[in-house]
Amino acid sequence: MSPISLIERLVAQAAGAGASDVVAEPQDDGSLLLVARRDGLRSPVGRIPVDAAAQAVARLKALAGLPAYITDEPQDGAIAGGTFGMPGDVRLACLPTVRGQRLALRLPVLGALPKPEALRLDAGVLAQLRQALRRRDGLLLVTGPTGSGKTTTIHSLLAELAAERTDRQVVTIEDPVERRIPGLAQVAVSPARGFGYGEALAAALRQDADVLVVGEVRDRATAAACLTAALTGHLVISTLHCGRAAEAVRRLTDLGVDRDHLRSALSLVLAQRLVRRRHDACGGAGCAACDGGFLGRVPVCDLLLLDDANRTRLAGGLPPLLAADLDEQAAALVAGGVTTDAELARSVA
Ligand SMILES: [Zn+2]
Repeated sequence: MSPISLIERLVAQAAGAGASDVVAEPQDDGSLLLVARRDGLRSPVGRIPVDAAAQAVARLKALAGLPAYITDEPQDGAIAGGTFGMPGDVRLACLPTVRGQRLALRLPVLGALPKPEALRLDAGVLAQLRQALRRRDGLLLVTGPTGSGKTTTIHSLLAELAAERTDRQVVTIEDPVERRIPGLAQVAVSPARGFGYGEALAAALRQDADVLVVGEVRDRATAAACLTAALTGHLVISTLHCGRAAEAVRRLTDLGVDRDHLRSALSLVLAQRLVRRRHDACGGAGCAACDGGFLGRVPVCDLLLLDDANRTRLAGGLPPLLAADLDEQAAALVAGGVTTDAELARSVA
């Protein structure tokens, strides 16, 4: 088998098995070890031998439109949906290491988008999220580490909103678009070409969008643009790479956001983690149908609602009160036998 078809086959197989990411890790002997992440756990899925490694790297970079001759700088690109059977875009990031280029592939999501009930969120949390999404303005944030299900939660709720409220123009700005959703105008940014979140947000506002979804707040300009939109009659939904809900306020002020504006604009922060569920059928002992006693994942979350009481507390420098607490939800899952302490220690930092 040619090196090109070998790497394409291995990546497609990992995607078919439910992997969210594949990393091609250069080894001391010049070969590439492919490691896939599924349900938050990493495991090796194959190896590209030394005589084929360079061609395989060049092939993936070419598919993503990245020049092969640049090997000593980080590069980011996207492989278009449809390439080697992928249902959506694959984000490719190259990192030069002392052993060679390390390629990280973020795979598109397979399968149908779950309905909000199928997300297995706490019922009270889901009700609050639905209510917040029906507001006309304000900023909603979902926080958590990479792979904690933030985007799936947002997309599931938006798909429901789009289906029932066709009068609201929803524009999502994503990097890349991992899943196409009926009823939403989805925009893929291309920061390398100067079309970043800020530019896309400005363009969407000119088109009279009601609901704006910005993939991630990761810099000062995006934070400021989101806040301005949220304060001028738009509902803005975004994600933030931070730990717990109460930290989001500090993280945004660290990004230079005005505290008073933030207290007015922010309406809700959901901090989400996914923990693996014990497999019921085998009682967590491990069987052929599961992965060491676990099958699937369930979310645990903090929910912070910026009501008058919490706005007053924040203005007075007090920590806000949570409407749902991640630690309490996690303890209840262990008490109910849904997951284990060891899994919590692994997945909830
Ligand atoms: Zn089992």
